[in-house]
Amino acid sequence: MRPTCRRCGYRFHRAPGQWLGSWFLNVIVVQSVVVIVLVAVAGLSWPHTPASLLIGAVLLGAIITPLVFFPFSRTIWIAIDLVMKPLEFDDDVAPAFELERELALLTAEKGSGSAAGGVAKPGSEGPNTNEP
Ligand SMILES: [Zn+2]
Repeated sequence: MRPTCRRCGYRFHRAPGQWLGSWFLNVIVVQSVVVIVLVAVAGLSWPHTPASLLIGAVLLGAIITPLVFFPFSRTIWIAIDLVMKPLEFDDDVAPAFELERELALLTAEKGSGSAAGGVAKPGSEGPNTNEP
């Protein structure tokens, strides 16, 4: 896994012990898969469920699922972490990326202002209409 985002420079590992959350997500998913596999195999082969089939299916699910889900658990945890701890200015993320939306709005506003040629902007027309 790369230490930072290629596009904006966001540092994925923000605090020590941060990956405990992704590990926990992975455990939840693996346990859910194991229970689902257990119930599905037992249910489909009921009442003569072979123990070797049950153990084999559960072991396969318990070994493959964490390996496949590992990158997704980290990505999901990074998103959850960003929601819980929003970016600060000292997080080394490129300011242009943080202000991308505002910059696009400003550019659009400037572009429409010069094209309209003197038409009042929506923000400036409020106080003028209230004057007697
Ligand atoms: Zn990024």
